[in-house]
Amino acid sequence: MQTRKPHAALLASPGMGHLIPVLELGKRLVSHHGFNVTIFVVTADASLSQSQLRKVSETAYDLLDVVLLPPVDVSGQIDKTTSILSQIDMMIHEALPSLRSAILAMEVPPIALVVDIFLRRNEVYFRMGTEISTADGILVNTFHELEHQTLAALNDARKQGLVPNAPVYPIGPLVRPVKSGLRSEILSWLDVQPKGSVIYVSFGSGGTLSAEQTIELAWGLEKSQQRFFWVVRPPVENDSAATVFNTNSSCTDFPDYLPEGFLNRTSKNGPVVPMWAPQSEILSHPSIGGFLSHCGWNSSLESIVNSVPMIVWPLYAEQKMNATLLAKHIGVAIRSKLLPSQGVIGRSEIEAMVRKIMVDKEGEAIRARAKMLKSCAAKALSKGGSSYNALANVAKDCEIRMQKLAELHLW
Ligand code: UDP
Repeated sequence: MQTRKPHAALLASPGMGHLIPVLELGKRLVSHHGFNVTIFVVTADASLSQSQLRKVSETAYDLLDVVLLPPVDVSGQIDKTTSILSQIDMMIHEALPSLRSAILAMEVPPIALVVDIFLRRNEVYFRMGTEISTADGILVNTFHELEHQTLAALNDARKQGLVPNAPVYPIGPLVRPVKSGLRSEILSWLDVQPKGSVIYVSFGSGGTLSAEQTIELAWGLEKSQQRFFWVVRPPVENDSAATVFNTNSSCTDFPDYLPEGFLNRTSKNGPVVPMWAPQSEILSHPSIGGFLSHCGWNSSLESIVNSVPMIVWPLYAEQKMNATLLAKHIGVAIRSKLLPSQGVIGRSEIEAMVRKIMVDKEGEAIRARAKMLKSCAAKALSKGGSSYNALANVAKDCEIRMQKLAELHLW
Protein backbone atom coordinates (compact mmCIF):
# COMPACT_ATOMS: atom_id res chain seq x y z
CA MET A 1 0.00 0.00 0.00
CA GLN A 2 1.48 3.35 -1.06
CA THR A 3 1.50 5.85 1.79
CA ARG A 4 3.92 8.55 0.63
CA LYS A 5 2.48 11.53 -1.17
CA PRO A 6 3.62 11.90 -4.78
CA HIS A 7 6.21 14.64 -5.14
CA ALA A 8 6.35 16.75 -8.30
CA ALA A 9 9.13 19.21 -9.22
CA LEU A 10 8.10 22.10 -11.47
CA LEU A 11 10.55 24.35 -13.30
CA ALA A 12 9.44 27.95 -13.92
CA SER A 13 11.16 30.05 -16.55
CA PRO A 14 11.94 33.68 -15.60
CA GLY A 15 9.19 36.28 -15.93
CA MET A 16 5.77 36.77 -14.41
CA GLY A 17 4.01 35.19 -17.36
CA HIS A 18 5.77 31.91 -16.58
CA LEU A 19 5.81 32.07 -12.82
CA ILE A 20 2.04 32.58 -12.48
CA PRO A 21 0.78 29.46 -14.31
CA VAL A 22 3.50 27.26 -12.81
CA LEU A 23 2.53 28.36 -9.30
CA GLU A 24 -1.13 27.75 -10.07
CA LEU A 25 -0.37 24.28 -11.41
CA GLY A 26 1.62 23.55 -8.25
CA LYS A 27 -1.21 24.76 -6.03
CA ARG A 28 -3.74 22.59 -7.86
CA LEU A 29 -1.55 19.50 -7.60
CA VAL A 30 -1.30 20.12 -3.85
CA SER A 31 -4.89 21.07 -3.09
CA HIS A 32 -6.81 18.81 -5.47
CA HIS A 33 -4.55 15.85 -5.99
CA GLY A 34 -2.60 15.40 -2.75
CA PHE A 35 0.91 16.11 -4.09
CA ASN A 36 3.91 17.67 -2.46
CA VAL A 37 5.30 20.20 -4.92
CA THR A 38 8.68 21.87 -5.27
CA ILE A 39 8.86 24.84 -7.64
CA PHE A 40 12.28 25.70 -9.03
CA VAL A 41 12.58 29.26 -10.30
CA VAL A 42 15.26 30.32 -12.77
CA THR A 43 16.45 33.80 -11.87
CA ALA A 44 19.12 36.39 -12.59
CA ASP A 45 18.23 38.38 -9.49
CA ALA A 46 16.96 36.63 -6.38
CA SER A 47 15.45 39.72 -4.76
CA LEU A 48 13.51 40.56 -7.94
CA SER A 49 12.15 37.02 -8.14
CA GLN A 50 11.18 37.14 -4.47
CA SER A 51 9.29 40.37 -4.98
CA GLN A 52 7.58 38.89 -8.07
CA LEU A 53 6.54 35.86 -6.03
CA ARG A 54 5.07 38.08 -3.32
CA LYS A 55 3.23 40.06 -5.97
CA VAL A 56 1.53 37.10 -7.59
CA SER A 57 0.79 34.69 -4.80
CA GLU A 58 -0.27 34.98 -1.19
CA THR A 59 -0.26 31.27 -0.60
CA ALA A 60 2.68 30.01 -2.66
CA TYR A 61 5.02 29.66 0.31
CA ASP A 62 2.36 27.97 2.48
CA LEU A 63 1.45 25.31 -0.04
CA LEU A 64 4.62 24.85 -2.04
CA ASP A 65 8.32 24.48 -1.55
CA VAL A 66 9.63 27.36 -3.67
CA VAL A 67 13.35 27.17 -4.48
CA LEU A 68 15.15 29.98 -6.28
CA LEU A 69 17.97 28.39 -8.23
CA PRO A 70 21.35 30.16 -7.81
CA PRO A 71 21.19 33.36 -9.90
CA VAL A 72 22.68 32.95 -13.35
CA ASP A 73 24.78 35.57 -15.08
CA VAL A 74 24.65 35.67 -18.87
CA SER A 75 26.17 39.12 -19.22
CA GLY A 76 29.29 37.64 -20.86
CA GLN A 77 27.19 36.06 -23.63
CA ILE A 78 25.15 39.06 -24.71
CA ASP A 79 25.58 42.34 -26.50
CA LYS A 80 23.28 45.25 -27.34
CA THR A 81 21.56 43.24 -30.05
CA THR A 82 20.55 40.31 -27.80
CA SER A 83 16.83 40.43 -27.17
CA ILE A 84 15.47 39.94 -23.68
CA LEU A 85 13.72 36.78 -24.77
CA SER A 86 17.01 35.32 -26.01
CA GLN A 87 18.58 36.28 -22.67
CA ILE A 88 15.89 34.33 -20.84
CA ASP A 89 16.58 31.36 -23.06
CA MET A 90 20.30 31.57 -22.18
CA MET A 91 19.47 31.88 -18.49
CA ILE A 92 17.46 28.68 -18.54
CA HIS A 93 20.28 26.88 -20.27
CA GLU A 94 22.79 28.14 -17.69
CA ALA A 95 20.52 27.12 -14.80
CA LEU A 96 20.21 23.47 -15.85
CA PRO A 97 23.29 22.18 -13.95
CA SER A 98 21.96 23.74 -10.71
CA LEU A 99 18.56 22.20 -11.35
CA ARG A 100 20.14 18.76 -11.81
CA SER A 101 22.17 19.11 -8.61
CA ALA A 102 19.17 20.34 -6.65
CA ILE A 103 17.05 17.41 -7.78
CA LEU A 104 19.79 14.89 -7.06
CA ALA A 105 20.17 16.32 -3.55
CA MET A 106 16.49 15.95 -2.71
CA GLU A 107 15.63 13.65 0.14
CA VAL A 108 12.38 12.60 -1.55
CA PRO A 109 13.02 12.44 -5.27
CA PRO A 110 10.25 13.77 -7.47
CA ILE A 111 8.14 11.27 -9.36
CA ALA A 112 7.48 13.89 -12.02
CA LEU A 113 9.42 16.82 -13.43
CA VAL A 114 7.26 19.39 -15.19
CA VAL A 115 9.22 21.88 -17.26
CA ASP A 116 7.75 25.12 -18.47
CA ILE A 117 8.97 25.27 -22.03
CA PHE A 118 10.57 28.49 -23.23
CA LEU A 119 12.56 28.62 -26.43
CA ARG A 120 13.76 31.31 -28.76
CA ARG A 121 16.84 30.06 -30.59
CA ASN A 122 15.99 28.25 -33.87
CA GLU A 123 18.47 25.30 -33.28
CA VAL A 124 16.83 24.81 -29.92
CA TYR A 125 13.39 24.47 -31.63
CA PHE A 126 14.60 21.51 -33.60
CA ARG A 127 16.17 19.79 -30.60
CA MET A 128 13.11 20.43 -28.49
CA GLY A 129 10.87 19.03 -31.22
CA THR A 130 12.82 15.79 -31.12
CA GLU A 131 13.25 15.61 -27.37
CA ILE A 132 9.62 16.28 -26.58
CA SER A 133 8.87 12.77 -27.79
CA THR A 134 10.72 11.44 -24.73
CA ALA A 135 8.30 13.13 -22.32
CA ASP A 136 5.69 11.01 -20.59
CA GLY A 137 3.01 13.62 -21.11
CA ILE A 138 2.40 17.16 -22.32
CA LEU A 139 0.39 19.49 -20.07
CA VAL A 140 -1.26 22.34 -21.93
CA ASN A 141 -2.63 25.48 -20.31
CA THR A 142 -5.91 25.42 -22.19
CA PHE A 143 -9.26 23.69 -21.92
CA HIS A 144 -11.19 21.45 -24.21
CA GLU A 145 -14.02 23.86 -25.03
CA LEU A 146 -11.54 26.63 -25.89
CA GLU A 147 -9.30 24.74 -28.31
CA HIS A 148 -11.16 21.57 -29.13
CA GLN A 149 -10.14 21.65 -32.80
CA THR A 150 -6.42 21.93 -32.02
CA LEU A 151 -6.66 19.25 -29.36
CA ALA A 152 -8.57 16.94 -31.70
CA ALA A 153 -6.02 17.56 -34.47
CA LEU A 154 -3.18 16.73 -32.06
CA ASN A 155 -4.90 13.53 -31.06
CA ASP A 156 -5.42 12.52 -34.69
CA ALA A 157 -1.83 13.32 -35.56
CA ARG A 158 -0.70 11.27 -32.58
CA LYS A 159 -2.76 8.29 -33.71
CA GLN A 160 -1.12 8.55 -37.13
CA GLY A 161 2.33 8.74 -35.55
CA LEU A 162 2.97 12.27 -36.85
CA VAL A 163 3.60 13.92 -33.46
CA PRO A 164 5.17 12.63 -30.24
CA ASN A 165 3.38 9.78 -28.63
CA ALA A 166 3.14 11.47 -25.24
CA PRO A 167 -0.48 12.06 -24.19
CA VAL A 168 -1.64 15.68 -24.21
CA TYR A 169 -3.45 16.85 -21.07
CA PRO A 170 -5.42 20.11 -21.39
CA ILE A 171 -5.42 21.23 -17.74
CA GLY A 172 -6.20 24.95 -17.93
CA PRO A 173 -7.04 27.66 -17.53
CA LEU A 174 -4.26 28.11 -14.95
CA VAL A 175 -5.11 31.60 -13.81
CA ARG A 176 -4.03 33.51 -10.71
CA PRO A 177 -7.02 33.76 -8.36
CA VAL A 178 -8.16 37.14 -7.13
CA LYS A 179 -6.54 38.17 -3.83
CA SER A 180 -9.22 38.40 -1.21
CA GLY A 181 -9.59 41.78 0.46
CA LEU A 182 -7.10 43.58 -1.79
CA ARG A 183 -7.91 47.29 -1.84
CA SER A 184 -6.32 49.96 -3.97
CA GLU A 185 -7.18 53.35 -5.35
CA ILE A 186 -7.90 51.87 -8.73
CA LEU A 187 -10.25 49.20 -7.39
CA SER A 188 -12.10 51.90 -5.41
CA TRP A 189 -12.41 53.93 -8.62
CA LEU A 190 -13.78 50.87 -10.45
CA ASP A 191 -16.32 50.34 -7.64
CA VAL A 192 -18.13 53.55 -8.57
CA GLN A 193 -18.18 53.09 -12.36
CA PRO A 194 -21.20 51.66 -14.22
CA LYS A 195 -21.19 47.93 -14.91
CA GLY A 196 -19.16 46.92 -17.97
CA SER A 197 -18.23 50.53 -18.77
CA VAL A 198 -14.41 50.52 -18.46
CA ILE A 199 -11.83 49.23 -20.93
CA TYR A 200 -8.63 48.01 -19.28
CA VAL A 201 -5.43 48.63 -21.28
CA SER A 202 -2.27 46.72 -20.49
CA PHE A 203 0.58 45.06 -22.33
CA GLY A 204 1.47 42.32 -19.87
CA SER A 205 4.55 42.14 -17.73
CA GLY A 206 6.98 43.31 -20.38
CA GLY A 207 5.24 45.06 -23.24
CA THR A 208 6.17 48.55 -24.35
CA LEU A 209 5.15 50.84 -27.21
CA SER A 210 7.04 53.40 -29.23
CA ALA A 211 6.62 57.10 -28.41
CA GLU A 212 4.46 57.68 -31.50
CA GLN A 213 2.25 54.68 -30.73
CA THR A 214 1.83 55.79 -27.11
CA ILE A 215 0.55 59.18 -28.32
CA GLU A 216 -1.85 57.58 -30.81
CA LEU A 217 -3.18 55.20 -28.16
CA ALA A 218 -3.77 58.07 -25.74
CA TRP A 219 -5.70 60.02 -28.38
CA GLY A 220 -7.64 56.94 -29.47
CA LEU A 221 -8.75 56.22 -25.92
CA GLU A 222 -9.71 59.83 -25.30
CA LYS A 223 -11.61 60.19 -28.58
CA SER A 224 -13.59 56.96 -27.95
CA GLN A 225 -15.32 58.72 -25.03
CA GLN A 226 -15.30 55.47 -23.12
CA ARG A 227 -14.01 55.06 -19.58
CA PHE A 228 -10.59 53.43 -19.56
CA PHE A 229 -7.90 52.35 -17.16
CA TRP A 230 -4.41 52.22 -18.63
CA VAL A 231 -1.20 50.70 -17.24
CA VAL A 232 1.31 53.01 -18.88
CA ARG A 233 5.01 52.36 -19.49
CA PRO A 234 7.61 54.80 -20.74
CA PRO A 235 7.96 54.41 -24.51
CA VAL A 236 10.85 52.40 -25.91
CA GLU A 237 11.77 52.36 -29.59
CA ASN A 238 12.26 49.07 -31.41
CA ASP A 239 11.94 46.80 -28.38
CA SER A 240 8.40 45.82 -27.52
CA ALA A 241 9.55 43.50 -24.70
CA ALA A 242 11.68 46.11 -22.96
CA THR A 243 10.28 45.84 -19.43
CA VAL A 244 10.21 42.08 -18.98
CA PHE A 245 12.67 42.37 -16.06
CA ASN A 246 11.68 45.82 -14.98
CA THR A 247 8.14 45.82 -13.64
CA ASN A 248 9.26 47.17 -10.27
CA SER A 249 10.48 50.49 -11.49
CA SER A 250 8.09 53.39 -11.25
CA CYS A 251 7.77 56.37 -13.49
CA THR A 252 6.05 59.56 -12.56
CA ASP A 253 6.90 61.60 -15.60
CA PHE A 254 3.83 60.70 -17.71
CA PRO A 255 3.33 64.20 -19.07
CA ASP A 256 6.62 63.89 -20.94
CA TYR A 257 5.29 61.30 -23.29
CA LEU A 258 1.50 61.60 -23.13
CA PRO A 259 -0.28 64.26 -25.23
CA GLU A 260 -0.33 67.69 -23.67
CA GLY A 261 -3.23 68.09 -21.24
CA PHE A 262 -4.24 64.42 -21.58
CA LEU A 263 -4.07 63.67 -17.86
CA ASN A 264 -6.14 66.71 -16.92
CA ARG A 265 -8.79 65.99 -19.52
CA THR A 266 -9.14 62.28 -18.76
CA SER A 267 -8.27 61.82 -15.08
CA LYS A 268 -11.90 61.41 -14.01
CA ASN A 269 -12.92 58.86 -16.64
CA GLY A 270 -9.56 57.40 -17.55
CA PRO A 271 -6.97 56.97 -14.82
CA VAL A 272 -3.49 55.81 -15.73
CA VAL A 273 -1.04 54.00 -13.47
CA PRO A 274 2.64 53.43 -14.08
CA MET A 275 4.13 50.02 -14.85
CA TRP A 276 1.96 47.51 -13.00
CA ALA A 277 -1.58 46.98 -11.73
CA PRO A 278 -3.40 44.08 -10.02
CA GLN A 279 -4.69 42.61 -13.26
CA SER A 280 -6.61 39.58 -11.98
CA GLU A 281 -8.56 41.79 -9.57
CA ILE A 282 -9.20 44.40 -12.28
CA LEU A 283 -10.39 41.94 -14.93
CA SER A 284 -12.77 40.30 -12.47
CA HIS A 285 -14.31 43.64 -11.51
CA PRO A 286 -17.88 44.08 -12.80
CA SER A 287 -17.09 47.57 -14.15
CA ILE A 288 -14.66 46.15 -16.72
CA GLY A 289 -16.25 45.67 -20.14
CA GLY A 290 -13.23 45.26 -22.42
CA PHE A 291 -9.49 44.60 -22.45
CA LEU A 292 -6.96 46.04 -24.89
CA SER A 293 -4.20 43.49 -24.44
CA HIS A 294 -0.90 42.33 -25.86
CA CYS A 295 -2.60 38.90 -25.59
CA GLY A 296 0.06 37.05 -23.66
CA TRP A 297 -1.50 33.71 -22.89
CA ASN A 298 -2.09 34.45 -19.19
CA SER A 299 -3.81 37.73 -20.00
CA SER A 300 -5.91 35.99 -22.64
CA LEU A 301 -7.04 33.31 -20.21
CA GLU A 302 -7.69 35.89 -17.47
CA SER A 303 -9.91 37.76 -19.89
CA ILE A 304 -11.74 34.58 -20.87
CA VAL A 305 -12.42 33.43 -17.30
CA ASN A 306 -13.90 36.86 -16.59
CA SER A 307 -15.89 37.04 -19.87
CA VAL A 308 -14.14 40.22 -20.97
CA PRO A 309 -13.99 40.70 -24.77
CA MET A 310 -10.64 41.89 -26.10
CA ILE A 311 -8.87 44.13 -28.56
CA VAL A 312 -5.75 42.15 -29.38
CA TRP A 313 -2.48 44.01 -29.74
CA PRO A 314 0.26 41.38 -30.14
CA LEU A 315 3.83 42.56 -29.52
CA TYR A 316 6.30 39.70 -29.26
CA ALA A 317 6.84 35.96 -28.70
CA GLU A 318 3.80 33.83 -29.56
CA GLN A 319 1.35 36.72 -29.16
CA LYS A 320 0.50 36.98 -32.89
CA MET A 321 -0.64 33.38 -32.82
CA ASN A 322 -2.75 34.04 -29.71
CA ALA A 323 -4.24 37.12 -31.37
CA THR A 324 -5.33 35.14 -34.43
CA LEU A 325 -6.74 32.38 -32.26
CA LEU A 326 -8.77 34.81 -30.12
CA ALA A 327 -10.03 37.00 -32.94
CA LYS A 328 -10.48 34.55 -35.80
CA HIS A 329 -11.11 31.16 -34.28
CA ILE A 330 -12.50 31.68 -30.77
CA GLY A 331 -14.35 34.88 -31.61
CA VAL A 332 -13.85 36.83 -28.37
CA ALA A 333 -11.65 39.60 -29.77
CA ILE A 334 -11.17 42.14 -32.53
CA ARG A 335 -7.88 43.30 -34.03
CA SER A 336 -6.47 46.18 -36.01
CA LYS A 337 -5.98 46.05 -39.79
CA LEU A 338 -2.19 46.25 -39.46
CA LEU A 339 -0.29 44.25 -36.88
CA PRO A 340 1.38 46.53 -34.30
CA SER A 341 4.73 45.24 -35.56
CA GLN A 342 3.89 46.45 -39.09
CA GLY A 343 3.43 50.10 -38.24
CA VAL A 344 1.75 52.63 -36.01
CA ILE A 345 -1.96 52.06 -35.40
CA GLY A 346 -3.68 55.40 -35.71
CA ARG A 347 -5.98 57.12 -33.22
CA SER A 348 -9.12 56.83 -35.40
CA GLU A 349 -8.77 53.08 -35.74
CA ILE A 350 -8.15 52.75 -32.00
CA GLU A 351 -11.19 54.89 -31.25
CA ALA A 352 -13.33 52.70 -33.54
CA MET A 353 -12.04 49.46 -32.03
CA VAL A 354 -12.70 50.66 -28.48
CA ARG A 355 -16.25 51.70 -29.35
CA LYS A 356 -16.87 48.43 -31.15
CA ILE A 357 -15.78 46.23 -28.27
CA MET A 358 -17.48 48.34 -25.59
CA VAL A 359 -20.74 49.67 -26.99
CA ASP A 360 -21.37 49.32 -30.72
CA LYS A 361 -23.96 46.85 -31.97
CA GLU A 362 -21.26 45.29 -34.16
CA GLY A 363 -19.50 44.01 -31.05
CA GLU A 364 -22.53 42.25 -29.59
CA ALA A 365 -21.70 38.77 -30.88
CA ILE A 366 -18.18 39.01 -29.46
CA ARG A 367 -19.48 40.11 -26.07
CA ALA A 368 -22.01 37.24 -26.05
CA ARG A 369 -19.34 34.70 -27.00
CA ALA A 370 -17.08 35.94 -24.19
CA LYS A 371 -19.92 35.40 -21.68
CA MET A 372 -20.48 31.87 -22.90
CA LEU A 373 -16.80 30.91 -22.63
CA LYS A 374 -16.61 32.03 -19.00
CA SER A 375 -19.02 29.32 -17.94
CA CYS A 376 -17.21 26.72 -20.07
CA ALA A 377 -13.92 27.59 -18.31
CA ALA A 378 -15.51 27.30 -14.87
CA LYS A 379 -17.06 23.96 -15.80
CA ALA A 380 -13.75 22.59 -17.12
CA LEU A 381 -12.05 23.34 -13.80
CA SER A 382 -14.77 22.11 -11.50
CA LYS A 383 -14.70 18.59 -10.08
CA GLY A 384 -15.51 16.19 -12.91
CA GLY A 385 -14.81 18.87 -15.57
CA SER A 386 -12.48 18.19 -18.52
CA SER A 387 -9.42 19.98 -17.11
CA TYR A 388 -9.94 18.67 -13.58
CA ASN A 389 -10.13 15.13 -14.95
CA ALA A 390 -7.07 15.63 -17.15
CA LEU A 391 -4.96 16.64 -14.14
CA ALA A 392 -6.46 13.78 -12.13
CA ASN A 393 -5.23 11.43 -14.89
CA VAL A 394 -1.73 12.91 -14.60
CA ALA A 395 -1.88 12.31 -10.84
CA LYS A 396 -3.08 8.75 -11.36
CA ASP A 397 -0.18 8.07 -13.76
CA CYS A 398 2.27 9.35 -11.16
CA GLU A 399 0.81 7.10 -8.50
CA ILE A 400 1.01 4.03 -10.74
CA ARG A 401 4.66 4.83 -11.43
CA MET A 402 5.40 5.26 -7.75
CA GLN A 403 3.86 1.89 -7.02
CA LYS A 404 5.85 0.20 -9.76
CA LEU A 405 9.08 1.75 -8.50
CA ALA A 406 8.25 0.85 -4.91
CA GLU A 407 7.69 -2.77 -5.95
CA LEU A 408 11.15 -2.75 -7.50
CA HIS A 409 12.54 -1.08 -4.34
CA LEU A 410 13.68 1.83 -6.50
CA TRP A 411 11.64 4.52 -4.77
N1 UDP B 1 0.15 41.26 -14.86
C1 UDP B 1 -0.36 41.94 -13.78
N2 UDP B 1 -0.28 43.32 -13.80
C2 UDP B 1 0.25 44.02 -14.82
C3 UDP B 1 0.75 43.31 -15.93
C4 UDP B 1 0.68 41.93 -15.92
O1 UDP B 1 -0.86 41.35 -12.82
O2 UDP B 1 0.27 45.25 -14.76
C5 UDP B 1 0.08 39.78 -14.86
C6 UDP B 1 -1.09 39.33 -15.71
O3 UDP B 1 -2.25 39.25 -14.93
C7 UDP B 1 -0.61 37.99 -16.24
C8 UDP B 1 0.92 38.13 -16.29
O4 UDP B 1 1.24 39.25 -15.47
O5 UDP B 1 -0.95 36.97 -15.33
C9 UDP B 1 1.41 38.42 -17.68
O6 UDP B 1 1.41 37.23 -18.41
P1 UDP B 1 1.05 37.17 -19.94
O7 UDP B 1 1.20 35.75 -20.38
O8 UDP B 1 -0.26 37.79 -20.20
O9 UDP B 1 2.09 38.09 -20.66
P2 UDP B 1 3.69 38.21 -20.57
O10 UDP B 1 3.92 39.22 -19.53
O11 UDP B 1 4.25 36.87 -20.25
O12 UDP B 1 4.05 38.71 -21.91
